Amino acid sequence: MIIIMSNEVTDGQIDAVTAKLQKMGLDANISRGVERTVIGAIGDEQKLDKEALQALPGVEEVIRVMKPYKIVARSYHKSDTVVDIGGVKLGGNQVQVIAGPCSVETQPQMDAAADAVAAAGCKLMRGGAFKPRTSPYSFQGTGVEGLEMFRNAAQRYNLPIVTELMDARMLDTFLEHKVDVIQIGTRNMQNFDLLKEVGRTHVPVILKRGMSATISEWLMAAEYIAAGGNHNIIFCERGVRSFETYYRNMLDVTAIAVLKKETHLPVIVDPSHAGGKAWMVPALSRAALAAGADGLLVEMHPTPCEAWCDADQALSPEQLNTLMGELRGIAQVIGREIA
Ligand code: PEP
Ligand code: MN
Repeated sequence: MIIIMSNEVTDGQIDAVTAKLQKMGLDANISRGVERTVIGAIGDEQKLDKEALQALPGVEEVIRVMKPYKIVARSYHKSDTVVDIGGVKLGGNQVQVIAGPCSVETQPQMDAAADAVAAAGCKLMRGGAFKPRTSPYSFQGTGVEGLEMFRNAAQRYNLPIVTELMDARMLDTFLEHKVDVIQIGTRNMQNFDLLKEVGRTHVPVILKRGMSATISEWLMAAEYIAAGGNHNIIFCERGVRSFETYYRNMLDVTAIAVLKKETHLPVIVDPSHAGGKAWMVPALSRAALAAGADGLLVEMHPTPCEAWCDADQALSPEQLNTLMGELRGIAQVIGREIA
């Protein structure tokens, strides 16, 4: 950590910072320049409280040198992590497309959706049984019954299931139903108690980016899960809030490149909640794959106009099939594989 002192700093204030560092078990390296005095803290930066130092008289700015995240950092694990989801590999050279409806509605709807997901060649299926809705009067999901319908539909094709957990009190139910991937939605990215709970399991987690979260906050949220012992984490960029109203969220393609540098964990993209319209999904999917995403999370409904939730952004089975063909072409060009 580097502590930059103000230009009117006194020797007493420098001594106070030095004493504080020593009390925290670190050494101080004082560098007196013509204009500024800079103090370098030597030792384990994790022991330091940035705010406590910042509050000392004469301190102008405190800059961390080390990244605050450890386990999820690329420096902790150089090679790409491949998350094993019931035998399906996410990360590495393989690109995975997770497709399925926004929400689990009925058994026939889920059966038809599973047929379409398998026919398109996707190896993983999505579907929300518990839905985070802006209005309490909107459809809230089919709940535990939905998990059962989802499992029944997906097991005919051995498709591992991806579904959102909103409340830590439902975690045991998710484990009993052998949910293969727990999705943490954008609204819960910083629900730290929820993150800690999923961190205690070994179930793979898709951690969506908070709609106004910085990349650093997102990495720290993942660190919460990792710190509990669960390193099976997949980042999912789903667009952030912006000033633009034409589309639902602004897909941050840049975040893919940044995350691939900062973390060894897989990064996927949800083009559906970014664009918010089915017609945008193919373009955003192609961009994501070209930019280095390890997979996609795409909404597809057997009959989009009848969907109970997010009808306007769901691909039809035919559109999903066409998209998979396009993605196979891109994967080949960039030296990756897609089922
Ligand atoms: C979803 O994937 O169903 C969902 C609710 O997404 P998000 O949390 O990104 O809004
Ligand atoms: Mn949705």
